[in-house]
Amino acid sequence: MVCFCFLVDQRRMTLKIRPVAAMCSRCGCAASVADIKTETRFCYVPFCWRSWRVVICTFCGSILRSYAR
Ligand SMILES: [Zn+2]
Repeated sequence: MVCFCFLVDQRRMTLKIRPVAAMCSRCGCAASVADIKTETRFCYVPFCWRSWRVVICTFCGSILRSYAR
């Protein structure tokens, strides 16, 4: 169903971010702990939320570790 794909979209929001004593395994830059919330919307109406905590590299953006909440 092609039109269904256009009606559903997903937004990712970073709620909180703070530095952590960890290094990125890919580029060696400082990593941060971030609370991330994903919102799935259908016809611009949010119907599904998911939030979790990740350790993310502030430089290259790669996710080093994720924690389910
Ligand atoms: Zn990195």
